[in-house]
Amino acid sequence: MAETIATDVVIVGAGPIGLFAVFEFGLLDMKAHLIDILPKVGGQCAELYPEKPIYDIPGFPVITGQDLVENLKRQVAPFAPVYHLNQMVTGLKVLGTAEEPKFQVATDDDLTIETTVVVIAAGGGSFQPKRPPLAGIEAFEGKSVHYAVRKMDAFGGKRVVILGGGDSALDWALNLQPIADRVTLVHRRDAFRAAPHSVNGMRALVAAGKMDFVLGQATALKGENGRLVWATIRKEDGAIIDLPCDDLLAFFGLTMKLGPVADWGLNLHENLIPVDTEKFETSTPGIFAVGDINTYPGKLKLILSGFHEAALAAQKAVHYVFPNKKIVFQYTTSSTSLQKKLGVAG
Ligand code: FAD
Repeated sequence: MAETIATDVVIVGAGPIGLFAVFEFGLLDMKAHLIDILPKVGGQCAELYPEKPIYDIPGFPVITGQDLVENLKRQVAPFAPVYHLNQMVTGLKVLGTAEEPKFQVATDDDLTIETTVVVIAAGGGSFQPKRPPLAGIEAFEGKSVHYAVRKMDAFGGKRVVILGGGDSALDWALNLQPIADRVTLVHRRDAFRAAPHSVNGMRALVAAGKMDFVLGQATALKGENGRLVWATIRKEDGAIIDLPCDDLLAFFGLTMKLGPVADWGLNLHENLIPVDTEKFETSTPGIFAVGDINTYPGKLKLILSGFHEAALAAQKAVHYVFPNKKIVFQYTTSSTSLQKKLGVAG
């Protein structure tokens, strides 16, 4: 049985607001674990617009989505947050009371964390993979059809078929090629939405006979008991081929869905979580909601609003985590104790 971790705060979603929550909770000595379904932190900024300039982050006349994420990662590093990426928070169980909250958070990767408070920073919902339109694909999912690589070793010695023409498809073709029995990349066009060096790397491996590229589209899967045997491909010239296949990886992009948040017994309003504007607490004491996922009169879905919300949520949460501690408001500019936590005290 997997070990249960204990912590002060679990943050669901490692977008910009989840990241900044680590900072605000950290200043008040609360230890954070962050969980995100994506393999990287940064939420919409990293996934949807990493290279777009943002013009309304206070103090930064212009900063790209990815640079903002990199800065946030640096800013929260002194608090040593524990990141659990590539996994979705599926369960949130109440263990404590309204006065003494305690929760159990569970993910689809068998992680269980017990925590005093929870911050839901789930944005527009979890980014979830788009499923290829192949009849019966559900029966293979999680066994031999995958939408992410959790453990590379699992593909060692396997015949791997990769569908897609973006960075994920190309990156995994290159990474798995040395360990797989055979990698075949299948894409409907001979043009890719991926970094040129990855495309060149893939073409070089194909030219050297070390992997295959098939111009076409998957049309059917064949196998038994969740284990694939063949992937049927209709090639660009109309020919139909059956590719021997142990595992299929599909990278058809991501879509945002509210996902399991809807099942946690919280009041919802049009798929958003209503909160008060003093503490940004939900209908369940000890569970806070910050960033794009929450709603209240006058809510603006802006990064700067989420930063403010995280700061106020921390001010309330600290009383649950350290009920007997006197909390004194302090500035980072002048508080030696805060500067020690940040590792910058002289
Ligand atoms: P998100 O960034 O959505 O991150 C939420 C994270 O939670 C995601 O990574 C998701 O995978 C994860 N998650 C959700 N549910 C689960 C679960 N159950 N388990 C695990 N993980 C989960 N805002 C501005 O202020 N200025 C701008 O100029 C601006 N420009 C924008 C341009 C574009 C094209 C877009 C799309 C948005 C823009 N925004 C802008 C909005 C801004 O990006 C959002 O307000 C911000 O990303 C919200 O941050 P968040 O952390 O609340 O959520």
